[in-house]
Amino acid sequence: MTHEPPPDAEARKAAPAIVAYAVENLPPVDTAMHARVRESMTKVDEILVAPRDASTFEVDAGQVFRITSVEGPQVGDLNVWNRHDLTERFFSGKTHQLHGTHVDAGDRLWSSIPHMRPLATIIHDTLDWYGYDDDGGGVHDVIGTRCDPYTNATLNGVDYHHCCHSNLSRALSNYTGQPIAEIELYVHDVMNVFMCTGFTLDTHEYFMKASPVRPGDHVEFMAEMDLLGGLSACPGGDCSSTHSDDEAMCYPLFVEVFQPSHEALEGWAPSTVNTYDRTHGLG
Ligand SMILES: [Zn+2]
Repeated sequence: MTHEPPPDAEARKAAPAIVAYAVENLPPVDTAMHARVRESMTKVDEILVAPRDASTFEVDAGQVFRITSVEGPQVGDLNVWNRHDLTERFFSGKTHQLHGTHVDAGDRLWSSIPHMRPLATIIHDTLDWYGYDDDGGGVHDVIGTRCDPYTNATLNGVDYHHCCHSNLSRALSNYTGQPIAEIELYVHDVMNVFMCTGFTLDTHEYFMKASPVRPGDHVEFMAEMDLLGGLSACPGGDCSSTHSDDEAMCYPLFVEVFQPSHEALEGWAPSTVNTYDRTHGLG
């Protein structure tokens, strides 16, 4: 500390913390509809994401995708795009401001400005028992970013090509046919599926700890529009020790896509673009 605190420093620090957004004004979550959706849905697609690699998958509006841990504990870095406009993508910063540092059933994955609408809603999570631990850690982090080769080069001075950023870039390049140097600009901050993270209580540094995920654990999302998903099976494995190298034990992740019945989706409609007029005071 180099600056003298003012005489009323303690009083200033004691100002009440208030939740920054009126989250009670978010559109209500229709849990009864989600129960009908889950009861009626039938599988239409499945894909196995190889360890230290990523795959893309398409999900139509109203369909459900499920990510399941198989074989061993493994975290996944999830990217989500509007399939018809890749500039609209998951907005992790706003999502954690609205729902907290870690997401669970009933929370939505919001899209980037200027669209800012739900991409998907989490409708089921077998890790909902975890809550927050004594270190302040929780699962399904929306505060971290994807592991990436640039940070790794900065910190460790080596090029490693199987960080989640690179895995997602390769998968998206395969999907779109666009060169990797162009398409990597569409890869964005992730939902760290199954990852257990938080900020240290003393220095507020980002930490990770062994994921509590066990084979069979899964999390399900209902698509609020036509989506393209990208999922990387992180080279960190369960993220109990290292990432950005080939040291950790890594396992595949299983993605399934389901179609709910027509009746279950009655009254449901895809999300619509944000109502803000975009004139920013110049209109
Ligand atoms: Zn990763």
